Amino acid sequence: MMDNTKLAELLFPGVVKTPEQVISEYPERALPQGAVVSRMAPSPTGFVHLGNLVQGITSERMTHQTGGVLFLRIEDTDSKREVKGAVDVLTESLKYYGIEFDEGAMPGGDVGAYGPYTQSKRRDIYAVFAKKMVREGHAYPCFCSEEDLADMKRRQEEAGEDSIGYFGKWAACRDMSYEEIEKRILRGDKWVLRYRSTGDLSKKIKFTDMVKGEVELTENIMDFVLLKSDGIPTYHFAHAVDDSLMHTTHVVRGDEWLPSLPFHIQLFRDLGFRLPKYLHIGPLMKMDGESKRKLSKRKDPELALTYYQKEGFPAESVYEYILTILNSNFEEWRAANRELPASEFKFSCKKMNPAGSLFDYMKLRDVSKNVIALMPAEKVYALLLEWAEVYDGEFASALKGNREKATAFLSIGRGGKKPRKDIAVWSEVKDYMGYMFDAPTEFESIAELAGTEMAAEVVKKYADGYVQEDDSSAWFERVKQVAADFGFCTDMKAYRADPAAYPGSTADVSTFIRVAVTGKKNTPELNTIMSLLGKEEVLKRLYAYADKLKQ
Ligand code: GLU
Repeated sequence: MMDNTKLAELLFPGVVKTPEQVISEYPERALPQGAVVSRMAPSPTGFVHLGNLVQGITSERMTHQTGGVLFLRIEDTDSKREVKGAVDVLTESLKYYGIEFDEGAMPGGDVGAYGPYTQSKRRDIYAVFAKKMVREGHAYPCFCSEEDLADMKRRQEEAGEDSIGYFGKWAACRDMSYEEIEKRILRGDKWVLRYRSTGDLSKKIKFTDMVKGEVELTENIMDFVLLKSDGIPTYHFAHAVDDSLMHTTHVVRGDEWLPSLPFHIQLFRDLGFRLPKYLHIGPLMKMDGESKRKLSKRKDPELALTYYQKEGFPAESVYEYILTILNSNFEEWRAANRELPASEFKFSCKKMNPAGSLFDYMKLRDVSKNVIALMPAEKVYALLLEWAEVYDGEFASALKGNREKATAFLSIGRGGKKPRKDIAVWSEVKDYMGYMFDAPTEFESIAELAGTEMAAEVVKKYADGYVQEDDSSAWFERVKQVAADFGFCTDMKAYRADPAAYPGSTADVSTFIRVAVTGKKNTPELNTIMSLLGKEEVLKRLYAYADKLKQ
């Protein structure tokens, strides 16, 4: 019979603290009833993706709408994947979307009483609980090399074993004697600490996940690694220790961890900790032809959060879009509460799709158009300029040099019940409003209308009579007058009844003028654009266009 206390001393001679002592350093949090404590626990790989944001928004809403705590823990147990500065990049990216942590590993150092919040600084703590696991017979050292493990796997395959891994009779070090262990330790052999599973493949665990609902999983039989040979814990062991000590009530994480849950349940039980609640979030999917697939880092640039900044989606748009895909009732709520901040929406994890959310770029654009349509022009200008200063210096200068004109232009059709919804991303705005700064050099074709000869005459005639001071009805009357002068139909009903009887309609005349001034057939209210451009500029553009048409 193994003396586990003796084994624990042999493996962890320097560890004198008891689990109880450590636990007393992490007292219960004094929070109102029902307050959710959750965390983000990223590995510092430097790549921040949409999934991080989905997880961030979910845990931020769950915690902050219940008066709870959101903290950041850095899982740097895999030093191979670590990238310098990754934590700053992550916190900055999340902050951009309004997700701020109450405590944790902040760029300036730890904030909060439940740290250290970086796993590499918690080795001593893991050792205390690892020692407890050994003392209580739940863990043992394993000296198997990579080759031994590969060999075991090969033999398992040859034997037609259903489960491949370190377990039961295959687990070579599971029943090693104390003397053998001692001999190898004294010899300086490397070892990892393995869990001693008592799971049974014929038994199921019933579990209620807050997103997935009822799930049934087979018990874990594997003797997984708890501590690596350098004393660094695996994700599993660190998760159980940290989330218990830090009093996480809800673990929000990707559903790739769901298969590990039976193991985690064993760990919490054997460590004597209470199991937190779990929200296993399904992956982000997209349509690829007829079928759905997971968004992939390699194939889909839109997985990276930096993509949205570069494209120029306002943070609010991305935020609202994510709420739209996470909670099916958000859109309805938003339509009924246009002016309220999104934080007033009651987020519910029960409304999340257990199978994951479908990411739809066009839908994101629609949401963004709605969000931008409700912003005051000054805000649109400020955000646009902020974007341009990073991604398009020339456009930024034009905006800065024409602040009033640009803001006045961006005000057209804003406010009121049905605001214009022209802008989805800042990167498209230069094309959308560039004519406010420079005369157009490219013109959409009007060839299908009355003919360029005729159009040139119409534009010239209109220019000859142009009056800058016209209000919108006088402006329209003047367009109509020119239309009538050239025999165009000024009554749309009559025109539609017999279009062949006329060279065109008043609408065509205003299209000629619009294209002359802006290069485009579709713009916000033209008479306002013209008054913002000023008489001299308008006449210059009208005559230049008439000349161009004649060539
Ligand atoms: N470091 C883990 C990951 O990035 C954290 C999972 C969790 O939130 O528990 O997947």
